[in-house]
Amino acid sequence: MSQRTFSIIKPDAVRKGYTGAILAEIEKAGFKIVSIKKFSLSKAQAEGFYHVHAARPFFGSLTDFMSNGPIFPMVLEKENAIADLRKLMGATNPANAEEGTIRKQFASSIEENAIHGSDAEDTAAFEIGYFFAGVELK
Ligand code: GDP
Repeated sequence: MSQRTFSIIKPDAVRKGYTGAILAEIEKAGFKIVSIKKFSLSKAQAEGFYHVHAARPFFGSLTDFMSNGPIFPMVLEKENAIADLRKLMGATNPANAEEGTIRKQFASSIEENAIHGSDAEDTAAFEIGYFFAGVELK
């Protein structure tokens, strides 16, 4: 059954001009782009998005990074979208990411790692609702 997931092209990848190349990888892998926009998060909005990581030592640095430039949040659809996007992204730390993954090709560090993808159905629902209204999701 077709499933939706949420993704972000992060500020490092946007700044380096990798947006088009990353979208091409996503489409080549069979995802339909349901909705996409350019957006700049405030520090407080980044903190809200990453609230599950609030107790982590890197929370301050992560939310500074995510609010320091434009991003492309998007909703993607395909069969098994959540797991398949995680596979396409590769490991959090690009040093551990498999060949051919987006993070292997485009990420620069464990923090500036080019792309976000939801890790479960409940987080996907929260994250889609954080950036998109129902009328944007036809
Ligand atoms: P993801 O699901 O692969 O994105 O990884 P996590 O949910 O564990 O972490 C969320 C985001 O926090 C990652 O994508 C990185 O941008 C950042 N991050 C994760 N681990 C670390 C870390 O050890 N140090 C720093 N500075 N950032 C991290």
